[in-house]
Amino acid sequence: MNISQIIKAASKYTPGLDEQRILDAYVFAEKAHKEQKRDDGAPYITHPLETCMILTSLQADEDMLITALLHDVPENTGFTLKDIEAKFGKEVAFLVEGVTKLSRVYYKHNMVDRQIESLKRLFLHSAKDLRIILVKLSDRLHNMRTLDNIQNESKRLFIANETLEIYVPVANLLGIWEIKSEIEDLCFKYIHPTDYAKMNFLVEQSAIRNDQILKETLRITKNIMKSKGINAEIYARKKNLYSIFKKMVRTGRQFKDIYDLIALRVIVNDIDECYLALGVIHQTFKPKPKRVKDYIAVPKINGYRSIHTTVFGMDGIITEFQIRTKQMHLDDEYGIAAHYFYDYSNTKKEKIGEIFREHADWAKKILNIQKEAKTSGDFVDGMKFDIFQDRIFVFTPRGDVVDLPYGSNIVDFAYHIHSDIGDHLLSAEVNGEPVIPTTQLKTGDTVKIESSDKVTGPKREWLQFVKTGLAKTKIKEFFRKQSTRKNYNAGLALLEKELNLLGIDELKKTSPKEESKFLKDFGVKSKRELIASIGSGDINVKNIIRAMYSREELLGTPPKKKNNCYEIEINIIFKDRIGFLRDIAMLFSNLGVNISQIKNLGSNSNMQKYLSMTIEVRSIEHLDSALMSVNLMKGIVKVWKG
Ligand code: MN
Repeated sequence: MNISQIIKAASKYTPGLDEQRILDAYVFAEKAHKEQKRDDGAPYITHPLETCMILTSLQADEDMLITALLHDVPENTGFTLKDIEAKFGKEVAFLVEGVTKLSRVYYKHNMVDRQIESLKRLFLHSAKDLRIILVKLSDRLHNMRTLDNIQNESKRLFIANETLEIYVPVANLLGIWEIKSEIEDLCFKYIHPTDYAKMNFLVEQSAIRNDQILKETLRITKNIMKSKGINAEIYARKKNLYSIFKKMVRTGRQFKDIYDLIALRVIVNDIDECYLALGVIHQTFKPKPKRVKDYIAVPKINGYRSIHTTVFGMDGIITEFQIRTKQMHLDDEYGIAAHYFYDYSNTKKEKIGEIFREHADWAKKILNIQKEAKTSGDFVDGMKFDIFQDRIFVFTPRGDVVDLPYGSNIVDFAYHIHSDIGDHLLSAEVNGEPVIPTTQLKTGDTVKIESSDKVTGPKREWLQFVKTGLAKTKIKEFFRKQSTRKNYNAGLALLEKELNLLGIDELKKTSPKEESKFLKDFGVKSKRELIASIGSGDINVKNIIRAMYSREELLGTPPKKKNNCYEIEINIIFKDRIGFLRDIAMLFSNLGVNISQIKNLGSNSNMQKYLSMTIEVRSIEHLDSALMSVNLMKGIVKVWKG
């Protein structure tokens, strides 16, 4: 590795790169570390160079690259931060200081305390600037790559454990899978050497066995894509050894049952092409039943998107395909880094730092939780379970952090800001895109709310969607203040709408005896009061429907065993527009609803299209939220269960 390779790599994605400045940093670092050697006897400068090179794969900005070159200077040489500031400016000095401070955390003996201390410091500094963490991760990746050179076994183990406990979760949190999986496999190698060797052997053996078939599969897949006019990038995928190992331990299954022998990745331009590619693959290779996973329609909790399918490939060899767009690929490989670097690669470099600082606010939130935790153990538990899974952190346009329970939507957000904002919510944008109020939010989203006095109040339907108790209480409060007549009319409309959605023509007939029991169960004296209570939000219309109809009447035959879902056909009439299918797919993905089939049933003279979809839902509640969300979409004329 030499500095010209780094400059070459960086100038590819940085049009105005100041090459001389990078060169100066290199010369300075080389001189500073002159007398020092790495554990294998190589000149010390190889380490900052490699760290810097790793960062170019994340498309790191100029200051980060310089920081990487200088990151060990203040700690290990006679030069100080002041020298760095004088030569390379305040920004670089600030970043180097951040990295240096992170390096001082590890010299404690009590394992648990050290871990906790490190975690705290790590997040403390990340709260200032996420770039510091990225440099530190790259630094640690190179140290892990060269861990073999450390002769002392217990020191090696110490570093590997520390890395697995702290760096892997951090990389995971930021979603930088490329770095995360390499670091993780290196930890695996040192912490469980026997298992690692076994896994490595098994994977290599299968690679040798399947080399010819792999080449042939690649060739055929490329050809069929080309013949169908799909411009796809296709390559064999490397598997993360540690994740295969963990899966074997967790499921008790054999290697050959878990490891898909041939794993290919297909990268295309857009979502439509993803589904086209899936079709083409299934026409060529017989799919393995029930192994299609549509993480585009239903992304994983961490936001992961791709379509997976397993097929009987060449010579019947089990072959797994992952199909995704370029953007999904970048998101998956580089996580937060993709978001910040690739999206803003055209903005000025000063701007990048600003964006980083703005968005690093979520980490401050984590620090607050740390303060609230009673013991260090609580903090770590909180980090592991609470923060990452049960909470989301979203931003106001000004960069303030709003902390909400997982599953919260725009309406929850609006009421969290102020009950007036919730009551008068007019429209909303997430990351600059207009969305409907029931859109679920995810960590990192920037949410902009438009409220207006012309909006007279919240919508009753929102009650079915909101997650926070605050929003529920406020919406109910609003409707309780209204007159009984208004609530009765609204209740009637809600009941009709609900029946319509579910494809029920008429409310079920009940005997007088059944009716009086029914009313008693809901704590009301008359039918009129029951319906008014729907309007006031005191009784959920869905509870009434569910009390009247059995699950079978509403959902049909019991779920398929495999994923415990009911297959439901729904009909949609909508005004055709660009992006409609994408929007509906997004909507369902946010709700965790899988689409198993889409049928286009043509259009009428008014440019209205008629679509039939088969969706997979877990419960009547799940179906309800799917139908109601579609109903709220722009351009929907009618939606109902088939
Ligand atoms: Mn270092």
